[in-house]
Amino acid sequence: MKKILLVVAVAAIAFVSVILFNTMKLKSENQSKISTIDIPKDDSAALHLSEAIQIKTVSYGDTLPIDTSEFLKFRSFMERTYPLMHSKLEKQSFNQFSYVFKWKGKDSTKAPYVLMAHMDVVPVEAIAESKWTYPSFSGTIKEDTIWGRGAVDDKSSAIAIMEATEQLLRNNFIPERTFYLCFGHDEEIAGTRGARIVSKWFKENNIKPAFVLDEGGMIDTEKFKDVNRPVAVIATGEKGFVNVDISVTIPGGHSSQPEKETAIDVLNNAILKVREKQMPPIITPPLQSLLELTATEQSFFKKMVISNMWLFKGMIIKNLEENKQTNAMVHTTLVPTIVKAGIKDNVIPSIANATFNSRILPGQSSDDVVEFVRKAINDERVSVKKQTISLMEASSSTPSDHPSFKMLSSITQKIVPNVLVSPYLMIGATDSRYYRPFSEAVLNFTPMQNAKGFHGIDERIGITDLSRMISFYKLVMAEK
Ligand SMILES: [Zn+2]
Repeated sequence: MKKILLVVAVAAIAFVSVILFNTMKLKSENQSKISTIDIPKDDSAALHLSEAIQIKTVSYGDTLPIDTSEFLKFRSFMERTYPLMHSKLEKQSFNQFSYVFKWKGKDSTKAPYVLMAHMDVVPVEAIAESKWTYPSFSGTIKEDTIWGRGAVDDKSSAIAIMEATEQLLRNNFIPERTFYLCFGHDEEIAGTRGARIVSKWFKENNIKPAFVLDEGGMIDTEKFKDVNRPVAVIATGEKGFVNVDISVTIPGGHSSQPEKETAIDVLNNAILKVREKQMPPIITPPLQSLLELTATEQSFFKKMVISNMWLFKGMIIKNLEENKQTNAMVHTTLVPTIVKAGIKDNVIPSIANATFNSRILPGQSSDDVVEFVRKAINDERVSVKKQTISLMEASSSTPSDHPSFKMLSSITQKIVPNVLVSPYLMIGATDSRYYRPFSEAVLNFTPMQNAKGFHGIDERIGITDLSRMISFYKLVMAEK
């Protein structure tokens, strides 16, 4: 009996020791030794962003035409506002309204860097217009804030890149490496006419960027509740995208004498079955880094849980599943976005179909999604098919120990006091996905803080944020 007690005691001590050892290993990132630089408030850039917002470069929808006169207006705004960028850099247009500027560097043996931003914006629903504090395309500047569609996504990045370029050109600056500045015109409708075509041109000309930087991650001081430092998240990869169609065909008839089950009933049931469960969770490497880094700033208990993933994984996942944003970080999501059936109130339709939109985690594939849907429905009357046109598997990730990540991290520390920089996985999709297959590193980040209203109401950005972004791009351009 004594022996058993002894064994149990030793095992318990070993167990606790492992937990404590792992907890202690998770060291807090001390305040950075890098000193921050002063960022001048750039009021003239704010006026330029305001003007850019007033030009309605809207992407209305995949199959809807754009208003070319607005895109022409944007082109002449660029030419007028950034004359040196146009006279000193080589400019090329793709499908009329996407542009690439080549800025030749001193050292042609070094692989180039690519800076990206898009000039198109999502529309503002007529019904939402009255809810805006200032008209959505007014570009109103009030105190430190610039208001309007595109202020965050993504005209601020486009303007910041152009301002940085123009300001450096004014000082006759020449970058060490060659830079390609790429401005897309249809990111909000998948970039098939803009970034996709531009990326093809890169491939055809065998230009392999050492580093591509696009929108995505930002700085946050609100969401990470127990972390008392700003958290900058730099996306190192993005989720994939697939649409899965399900369809049911059952002869319909007169609505006065319905069968026990109609096409709509079967479809409805199938949708519910798919939504009942989620695909298996995955803690991807960027998510693990984000959890660990933020835990270093949190309570002993949080540190203990996160550093002992082997024991607490279930609990961590459960916790992440409670919030829609963090849930999307641990799961491939699946949600019905289109449901179609019926043409007349007294006719039972013979066909009912629905489309699920899925965002795929690295480690799972579109085939896994289709398989999951088929198994969940488990009904031969329901056909399941994936769409291939917009299919994009989850991207490969840029490792967070890649030199470009370290470079962005140290630049961010120069412009944001006491910042904690972490990799993360982007849950949306950007133009940069087209560059991943042939670029050494692709990262998504703009140093704006607590961005508000993008794709929604009251989109706006602080002049301080815009000024910080300009300094950020200048520092990237000055990199060796
Ligand atoms: Zn965007």
